[in-house]
Amino acid sequence: MSEGLDFEAVRHRLKLVRDAGDERIFENRGDVACPVCGDAFTEAMETTRRTCQLSAGPSVDVCIVRESNRTVVLTHA
Ligand SMILES: [Zn+2]
Repeated sequence: MSEGLDFEAVRHRLKLVRDAGDERIFENRGDVACPVCGDAFTEAMETTRRTCQLSAGPSVDVCIVRESNRTVVLTHA
């Protein structure tokens, strides 16, 4: 249902802050819209791992996109 988020298509509007191979974290620098809620996200974590750990604060909203081969977690500060 979701068209997900193509990081390569919006690559120039994102800053790659972490790349661990199976896990990448991008910082939003250009108001890229969250595919879940439509608001600009703060950070996006893309992982192909089965589990991941978030250190988001209590006031951070989180959106999640689950695809067959990856999970994208989007935070809204
Ligand atoms: Zn969202």
